[in-house]
Amino acid sequence: MRGNGKRGKVLVIGGGISGITAAIEASEAGCEVVLVEKNPYLGGRVAQMSQYFPKLCPPTCGLEIHFRRIRTSPRIRCLTLSQVEKITGGPGNYKATIQRGPRFVNARCTACAKCVEACPVERSDEFNLGMGVTKAIYLPFEMAHPLQFVIDGGVCPGSECGKCVPACPYEAIELDMQPETIELDVQAVIWATGWDPFPAEQIENLGFGTYPNVITNLMMERLASVGGPTGGVIQRPSDGKEIESIAFVQCAGSRDENYLKHCSGVCCLGSLKQARYVREQYPDAQVFIFYIDIRAPGRLEDFFAATEKDEKVTLIKGKVAKITEDASGNLEVEAEDALTTERVGEKVDLVVLATGLVPNGAGGVEVDGGLRTDEFGFLTTEQEHPDLLAAGCAKRPTEVATCVRDATGVAMKALKSCRE
Ligand SMILES: Cc1cc2nc3c(=O)[nH]c(=O)nc-3n(C[C@H](O)[C@H](O)[C@H](O)COP(=O)(O)OP(=O)(O)OC[C@H]3O[C@@H](n4cnc5c(N)ncnc54)[C@H](O)[C@@H]3O)c2cc1C
Repeated sequence: MRGNGKRGKVLVIGGGISGITAAIEASEAGCEVVLVEKNPYLGGRVAQMSQYFPKLCPPTCGLEIHFRRIRTSPRIRCLTLSQVEKITGGPGNYKATIQRGPRFVNARCTACAKCVEACPVERSDEFNLGMGVTKAIYLPFEMAHPLQFVIDGGVCPGSECGKCVPACPYEAIELDMQPETIELDVQAVIWATGWDPFPAEQIENLGFGTYPNVITNLMMERLASVGGPTGGVIQRPSDGKEIESIAFVQCAGSRDENYLKHCSGVCCLGSLKQARYVREQYPDAQVFIFYIDIRAPGRLEDFFAATEKDEKVTLIKGKVAKITEDASGNLEVEAEDALTTERVGEKVDLVVLATGLVPNGAGGVEVDGGLRTDEFGFLTTEQEHPDLLAAGCAKRPTEVATCVRDATGVAMKALKSCRE
């Protein structure tokens, strides 16, 4: 308990699986929690996945359970479209300045989508990584929390158009909503800022951005997802062709001094999972996985072993040297097989680059004295003050189960600061 008899307040930055878990655990142990997320929805990258390894269940099930706990918690305040600008002060007494962007849609929204019919403006759908468009007023995804539309202020002409306002039967649209600055006193801060995908267009020899049928692993998650741009049908972006053969290129830019030095630890399992997506939809499709080493730690080794048994899945140990696409959209992937030393050239319909996780670190938050990171940009556990904490992929690249365990542990540390 604090001196005034009240439990303290924890600020959680980032509403992915790590931040959500930390917020729920800290609040259920008695702390007040403010959860700040820059997107208009919670869930982070996990919300973009089609299925989770190793169980292959849709992440929306687990997320929905968490969202319900957040909805019914009297101690969690959730600020979406928000970013922490700076944190000042010292142990037990921090002041956080938060900038909250306007949603232009209030809580009366029932997600009936009448506004979408009226809206004349289209924008690129960033949730689906640019594969498709939404209207300027949109629901980020079908299970979004909050289940509330949002207007992209960057493209909406506002009251000059205003067609969505009379279309809404619930008077939920407020085109004059303004940004606000929120100041908070908190006793502990948890960074759960997670990761962004490595920008694949930087990898010169792999053709992303030049060849439409070279996609990234995160794009593959959206293609395979029932809520994705193709309704879950995995097909070639250039012409919608069904997949007869596909190549996964592991360590695309990772473990490479020129790009991303570290191993992200989850990309091998990600591609093995995606190989299964393909094989489920196309029982005759050939799958090639080009790898340096397959990293499937602990019990995830079983997932690798089961996928490897599939006779249509071929693993080739070799770093891909070049990818080319012809005028019909067919690709050739060239590598040297490190086990046979022979040159391999596989012709495929689609290439998936297994790009790694770039840490978001402090997430642009100004902190007195700064935050410590390791050589790759992940936040370390040894910060200047013990109540400045990090959880999940902000700390190291890892899978969901580890993030959840980690966030629970970190919430308990924050609890200690709130009780002192
Ligand atoms: C292709 C691929 C497939 C994968 N498949 C699986 C799988 O099947 N199973 C599995 O266990 N793992 C999988 N993973 C790993 C999984 O995505 C991560 O473990 C998980 O996303 C980590 O969650 P997180 O909350 O730490 O980070 P994130 O999911 O990145 O969430 C961080 C959140 O913080 C927000 N944020 C960032 N900066 C700020 C800021 N400054 N202010 C406010 N908010 C901010 C972000 O918007 C985001 O919502 C996969 C990874 C990849 C690349």
